[in-house]
Formats: sequence, structure tokens, C-alpha cells
Amino acid sequence: MFNVIIFGPPGAGKGTQSAMLLEKYELVHLSTGDVFRSNIKGETELGILAKSYIDKGQLVPDEVTIAMVEDFLKTRPDAKGFIFDGFPRTISQGEALDTILSNLNTTIDTVLALEVEEDELVKRLLERGKQSGRVDDQSEETIRNRFGEYNNKTEPLLAYYEKQDKLSRVHGMGQIDEIFARLCEAIDKKA
Ligand code: ADP
Repeated sequence: MFNVIIFGPPGAGKGTQSAMLLEKYELVHLSTGDVFRSNIKGETELGILAKSYIDKGQLVPDEVTIAMVEDFLKTRPDAKGFIFDGFPRTISQGEALDTILSNLNTTIDTVLALEVEEDELVKRLLERGKQSGRVDDQSEETIRNRFGEYNNKTEPLLAYYEKQDKLSRVHGMGQIDEIFARLCEAIDKKA
């Protein structure tokens, strides 16, 4: 298996780039944000719970998110590898992911971190809010909360993977294709 994590603050382009990467490297996409949103749409118990956090720009509790990810991975035994987009987002999620993967006899191979200036992120998110109707993209206050969550809870994970020599920081401003080429170069260097 070949497993990749893509990090980046909200609006960094993780979803766009993941869609291109999974095609090239034949990976299965796990976007925890997408799984939550489809549960919200289906009005499942998980969706109703997740919505109360997501709409405020807060993270969904670790136990809930980790159980969902474990279920997702276990039900896809034929995958050649995964691209993790939006997970892990806390140290405790990162540790849980290591355990889950080691039980499946696999591991994280490479970790990409997209870096984008905050002003550009706000611009992109407000624009996405207009196009997609995503509630969490429509207010600057919710967006700032998500940056706070990212800086406090997710950023520390970068050091966790840096220590394991798995992390590549990638400049995330410019044309989509240019950024994609940078990500591929970073993956191929570690593979
Ligand atoms: P973005 O990175 O653009 O903010 P996502 O679609 O990845 O958007 O996530 C949207 C929201 O879903 C997050 O703000 C958070 O509330 C929730 N969420 C997604 N992934 C996780 C996670 N791994 N742990 C906790 N909450 C999560």
C-alpha cells in the first residue's frame, strides 16, 4: 500500500489537489469533511452531531472522527493506498491512525503540507461559500475559528511527521497545475 496525508489550513486546496493525486497514484480518497457533509445531507445521527461543531468552525470530537475513519478503512480492503485529506487533524488522531494502519500491516509513506498565506485563504473560502453554499465558508468569524483550530491542534502534527522524516512542505500559491507538479515531485522523492 502507498498512503499519503495532505495537510493545509482551510482553503489551502487539499480537495482539489487530492482529486488529481488519487488519479495519478491510484489511491482511494478519504476526506473526513466530505464524509461528514454527506452524513449531514442524509440527516444521519453522525451528521446531526457533526453539524453542531462544523457550523461553528470547531473540530468534531476525536472519538467520533476516529471511529468513522476506522470504519472507512476496514470496508475497503482492496485499496492500493489512501490519500488522507482533512485527517488527522489532532495529535491524538495521528496516533490513532498509526495504530489502525499498523493493524492493517501498512503505514503512512509521505506527508504533504500545503502552505498558503492567510489573506489568500480567506479570499478563496468566501468565494467557495458563495459558489457552494457551505455554511462554514460564509462567515469570516467561522473561517477565523477554523484557522485557530488549525494552528492550535493541527499544526503540531507537522512536527510529529517531521521527526519521522515523512514531511514535505509545498508552496501552495500559483496555478493549480504548478502546485500539482510540486506535490508530485515531493511524493516521488520520498517513494
Ligand atoms: P476545510 O479544510 O476546508 O475547513 P473540511 O471539508 O476538511 O474543510 O472540513 C470541514 C469541517 O469538518 C471542519 O472545519 C471540522 O469541523 C470537520 N472535520 C473535518 N475533518 C475533521 C477531523 N479530522 N477532525 C475533526 N473535525 C473534522
